[in-house]
Amino acid sequence: MAQKKNVVVLGGGVAGLAVAYYLLKSGGFSVTVLEREPVTGGVCGSFEHDGFVLDYGAHKMYSVIPGVMDEFRDLMGSGLLEVRKKNRIYLRGRLLDYPLKLGNVLAVLGAKDFLRLGLGYAWSSLKGLLGSPAARSYEDYMQRVFGSAAYALIFRPLADKVWGEPATLHSEMGRTRVPSSNALEVALKLLGLKKETSATNAEYFLYPAAGFRAFPDALAREIVRKRGVIYTNARIAALPLVNGRVSAVKFTVDGQERELPCDTLVSTIPLKSLDRLLGLGRPSPVDKLQPRHVVLVYLVINKPLVLQDQWLFFPEEKYIFSRIFEQKQMLAALGAPERTVICCDFTCDAASPKWTAADTALASRCADDLAAAGFVQRGDITGSVVRRFTDFYPRYDLRYQETLGQVFDRFAGVPDLVLTGRLGMYNYNNADHCLDMGRVVAEGLYAGRPAAEVMATLKERAAGYRIVD
Ligand SMILES: Cc1cc2nc3c(=O)[nH]c(=O)nc-3n(C[C@H](O)[C@H](O)[C@H](O)COP(=O)(O)OP(=O)(O)OC[C@H]3O[C@@H](n4cnc5c(N)ncnc54)[C@H](O)[C@@H]3O)c2cc1C
Repeated sequence: MAQKKNVVVLGGGVAGLAVAYYLLKSGGFSVTVLEREPVTGGVCGSFEHDGFVLDYGAHKMYSVIPGVMDEFRDLMGSGLLEVRKKNRIYLRGRLLDYPLKLGNVLAVLGAKDFLRLGLGYAWSSLKGLLGSPAARSYEDYMQRVFGSAAYALIFRPLADKVWGEPATLHSEMGRTRVPSSNALEVALKLLGLKKETSATNAEYFLYPAAGFRAFPDALAREIVRKRGVIYTNARIAALPLVNGRVSAVKFTVDGQERELPCDTLVSTIPLKSLDRLLGLGRPSPVDKLQPRHVVLVYLVINKPLVLQDQWLFFPEEKYIFSRIFEQKQMLAALGAPERTVICCDFTCDAASPKWTAADTALASRCADDLAAAGFVQRGDITGSVVRRFTDFYPRYDLRYQETLGQVFDRFAGVPDLVLTGRLGMYNYNNADHCLDMGRVVAEGLYAGRPAAEVMATLKERAAGYRIVD
């Protein structure tokens, strides 16, 4: 029998677990996953607090990639719910439907802004029909899709909060988030003359009845069942290079030093961490990438329910959060009947007071803002818990493709190294894309293709991923 190839996967989020799962499914590999935290799942996990199962922000299972929804269903078996999506934008004290709807826009914005919005759409549609050069910035792209008035009112301030100055963002940032690509199409939908499709709007999505973490848990279970190995609490100590390649991975678990032979190294950990572990020297193009941190502030509220939606977007600057999410809207059984939890999420960079402030200060600010928006009384909030994730939001600046090209070239110098996942590839993506990437990596390695070829396929696919809300 041929010797099995040793694959070591760094990071046990869905991206790492997906690679391990598909490799073990295809056979011929001995696979070990090394996860730093006490549990696998990464940002697709959930945790328990005060009688609630809480996800790390609003997570739904939805995909337009052929085969991915079937894979979700196969993996999860009977533990899946089909949920109708309810989400809106909170603006000027009112709730704006998203995707936008004519009557609702008029009711929320009033006649003057409604007219400005309509004229913006009409002008962008006309320009689109006349043809114009490809949009380079996020600003260009979004103005072309939504017109200048809607951009100024909703999408500019929201992007400013989530990514920082929108004029410095690449058009890919908009294209990834907004699958409709022209104003005429969006205007026709607004007028009710064209329908949203499953490629542009997730009308229904799947959700695991035990909380989102049931998805990475199912992957982990299958990995172990197929005789893969997962180490949690693993500290990667070194990735020593021998003749330029990583032939072994040194790590510690529970204070014990270990070493694994490695034919292929798959990394899903942040590029900055991998760069340091490989000791490739400085300066590194990795330092030019500017991912944003994510903060999730959970407020426990002494009311059975607060929202009518699963999540709401908050573009206005006066609110610290850009989105709020009510876990019990996914499934009431995930929390105590008489109380609820609202998760307030926002992104920031390391120097921002939104990051440096203490958890209690952030919880207090979120509580004030939620009360100011009229969703709760300050006295209804009885507790809080905060979770933080570093470098989780890839920010695409105007030169990010060039920078990322340099980063990939740098790592291509290490043979048999494959990068995948949201952090591993600096790809602004969702869990379904991570699953797809895992399949692509496994198929490539199973076919005996070199890492460079696997990476070429992955880059092509990653460039086409769209987040459908
Ligand atoms: C608020 C919010 C809402 C979202 N909503 C959705 C949604 O509705 N649907 C959806 O599909 N996706 C959603 N996503 C995106 C989804 O969470 C990501 O696409 C997915 O979690 C990325 O998985 P990953 O494995 O690439 O990264 P991660 O989940 O970050 O996993 C990386 C893993 O590597 C580990 N690690 C890091 N450094 C080391 C190290 N040095 N050594 C060992 N291990 C290490 C980490 O602990 C982590 O477990 C959302 C994300 C956020 C923040």
